[in-house]
Amino acid sequence: MVNVYSTPLTTRFRGIDVRDGVLLAGPAGWGEFSPFWDYDDAESVSWWRAAWEAAHLGWPAPVRTHVPVNVTVPATDPERAHRIVLASGGCRTAKVKVAERGQGVGEEIARLEAVRDVLGPGGAIRIDANGAWDVETAVERLRVLDRAAGGLEYVEQPCAEVSELAEVRRRTSVPVAADESIRRAEDPFAVVRAQAADIIVLKVQPLGGVRACLDLAEQVGLPVVVSSALESSVGLAAGIALAAALPRLDHACGLATSQLLVHDTVPDPLLPTGGMIEVRRPVPDAVSLAATDAHLLDPGVAQRWEQRATRVARLAQALPAPSRDTTSGDTTP
Ligand SMILES: [Mg+2]
Repeated sequence: MVNVYSTPLTTRFRGIDVRDGVLLAGPAGWGEFSPFWDYDDAESVSWWRAAWEAAHLGWPAPVRTHVPVNVTVPATDPERAHRIVLASGGCRTAKVKVAERGQGVGEEIARLEAVRDVLGPGGAIRIDANGAWDVETAVERLRVLDRAAGGLEYVEQPCAEVSELAEVRRRTSVPVAADESIRRAEDPFAVVRAQAADIIVLKVQPLGGVRACLDLAEQVGLPVVVSSALESSVGLAAGIALAAALPRLDHACGLATSQLLVHDTVPDPLLPTGGMIEVRRPVPDAVSLAATDAHLLDPGVAQRWEQRATRVARLAQALPAPSRDTTSGDTTP
């Protein structure tokens, strides 16, 4: 059984205004397949494996009942940043987007000050540059932004290249987290060899499932932050399952992103209370699915997703599986 969902975002994010994807139901529950449209079929195979794992295998047992999460603040004005953190469901950690094209350091400083104003001295602020800076800009900006924020928890992907991350890490006191260098890299261990990061960001779909992420976390041996790929709560549940199963979890996770969707695919979305999301697996119902049904909203996009899921499922079957548990069974959508 396949459902194609589509929902507007509350804020333009990652250059998109609408989030869409496929939900599949299997013997172990619901899975979400929602690679962004700029990912080709080959890169979408790991996203498929994650959805397949959710629907057919389920996830390893949790070792905690709640997962601390951060609020995500897009590259917006300080008033709106203030409101977003206030309305975050008690999050004590904020991730603030920086290095937005067309914005200057003044706007970043104002945004960080607004966020600190809400969180108070006890809150944690991290920033994400999505690889947009060169080394010199990163080192210079971090000095300024660390001060503006009243101390940064870490900077996520300040530069694009692993060698650049390593240099930034040597030249600043702000801890460095690797995101794109882990999930879009041919070799995620390059980060470890180059001593390029203090923290790694893991996302379940791009990395091929909860088990694949647990294996990677164990091999890398660095502290982990689990983040979403802006999924609906069906996909977020896989991130929650990963965060819940990690032996150690020292940082808030980027899984409070249901807040960015106008509609979710479940009646009881995974939203934080007191800065924590309860470890559970919400199930789509008819009303929520109808509100997000891409067939009704945009039949063209629904058809494109069905074709895409069919192609990627076929490709996933043809390729050797990196993980022990994703090789067998019916992968037809
Ligand atoms: Mg990131």
